[in-house]
Amino acid sequence: MYRPHPFSWVPADGQRHATTDPKPRHGYHGVVVRTLCLKEVTVDNSDIGWLWPTCPSCNTGAHELAGVPEAGEDAE
Ligand SMILES: [Zn+2]
Repeated sequence: MYRPHPFSWVPADGQRHATTDPKPRHGYHGVVVRTLCLKEVTVDNSDIGWLWPTCPSCNTGAHELAGVPEAGEDAE
């Protein structure tokens, strides 16, 4: 299976986090995952979950894993 990056974005606990946990066969919904910001959260893969803000710590971690520098001040 093709995975562009070694992590996935998962909505949980009011933010969108990134996790390196492998995706379960039935998907992440309701699964407890370890996020890049070192939390253990239950994934809420509902429609509204994808509208939550991105977790800053996971965003930084994801950029490091992907080898892509963050946008910097442009986002401010
Ligand atoms: Zn996070």
